[in-house]
Amino acid sequence: MTVETLTQQEVDTNFSLFSQLEQKEHEQVIICSEPKVGLRAIIAIHNTTLGPALGGTRMWTYKSDQEALRDALRLSRGMTYKAAVAGLNLGGGKAVIIGDPQKDKTEALFRAYGRFIEGLAGRYITAEDVGTSISDMEWVRMETKYVTGISRALGGSGDPSTVTALGVYMGMKACAHKQFGSDSLKGKKVSIQGAGHVSVYLAEMLAKEGAKIYICDIFPEKVKKVVERTGAIGVDPDDIYDLDVDIYSPCALGGTVNSDTIPRIKASIIAGSANNQLDTEEIHGPMLIDRGIMYAPDYVINAGGLINVANELEGYNSNRAHEQASRIYDVILDILNHAEKRGIPTYAASNELAEHRLQQIGRIKEIYASKSKFSGRLGELNRSC
Ligand code: NAD
Repeated sequence: MTVETLTQQEVDTNFSLFSQLEQKEHEQVIICSEPKVGLRAIIAIHNTTLGPALGGTRMWTYKSDQEALRDALRLSRGMTYKAAVAGLNLGGGKAVIIGDPQKDKTEALFRAYGRFIEGLAGRYITAEDVGTSISDMEWVRMETKYVTGISRALGGSGDPSTVTALGVYMGMKACAHKQFGSDSLKGKKVSIQGAGHVSVYLAEMLAKEGAKIYICDIFPEKVKKVVERTGAIGVDPDDIYDLDVDIYSPCALGGTVNSDTIPRIKASIIAGSANNQLDTEEIHGPMLIDRGIMYAPDYVINAGGLINVANELEGYNSNRAHEQASRIYDVILDILNHAEKRGIPTYAASNELAEHRLQQIGRIKEIYASKSKFSGRLGELNRSC
């Protein structure tokens, strides 16, 4: 097709492709197509300064190719920052498969996708994400070794929730240290939104330390389970923001810290596992400062899941993964101190620290060194964490 035959809108779309990549400094986007098995996937590699790009594969019924591309670009950039702050030697990537996870999954689709990943020779490593599961990743693994987060039975790291919960717990303690002068959570009142995988383990750790826990979920049976295991108090999902507590822990959905909820939140710390907790960072980050609420940036405090899968790449060791996730305490404390010193919201402080590490490590890679002595399954990916 020549330029003359394109409509103006098509011309604009064509030209904006590279500008979309350049806008947030993405390195590469790979469009994967195999119509015979219904595969339409986009792999976005944002930055590989620190190491191979790692990020899950999302399967979703995107309304358009453009929407799918936007999601892949946004999510892959987030992974760069997450790995950088966690101290991992990993870059940021993410992939999306366009399709209905309830209806369109087949072995052939995931194996075709795996062959495209193999073709990238390690520049991108995948894992499960929204809409994909460990068993889907086992199909991908039939075609490529560049996949992580597989089941324990196959030598993988399995469910990362215990490691994520530990990171959240340690990050919460770091916030308490800064806000209350002691990191002890004994007697502190903590409200947890969501009674899912992460919350169960988090509630257990909090109960062991003597915190008073309030928990909600849209499924009462999930609340019941946590109440029975930890002595938590079950509350109605609509009441969670109004409770007179010290810490609010969003562990369900994104966007719950917004213009409606911030005036209602009585906690002086927000520390939870959910992704994208702030509805709009630029608006709600400063709003939290005005209300004196300390916010543990979501992608930092919930990095335990990423730490877990990064560990798998070197031969999974549960103790090592837990030990590394414990260090989220120090990372959160650094961010809180940096934010205070610079007078900026904590989400911006963590972005600055991530960018600083990328710049510094990028710089040292300009120094010539003979071939690396590192020899892990895919190189040493989490040495500095
Ligand atoms: P999960 O699906 O097991 O639990 C989420 C729970 O939230 C579910 O029980 C759901 O019913 C509940 N929920 C949904 N809407 C709600 C609402 N309006 N009010 C109250 N409860 C509601 O998920 P998870 O694995 O425990 O993860 C929790 C959050 O942490 C998610 O946002 C996830 O993306 C994020 N996260 C998880 C991990 C991990 O290792 N599992 C790692 C990083 C981030």
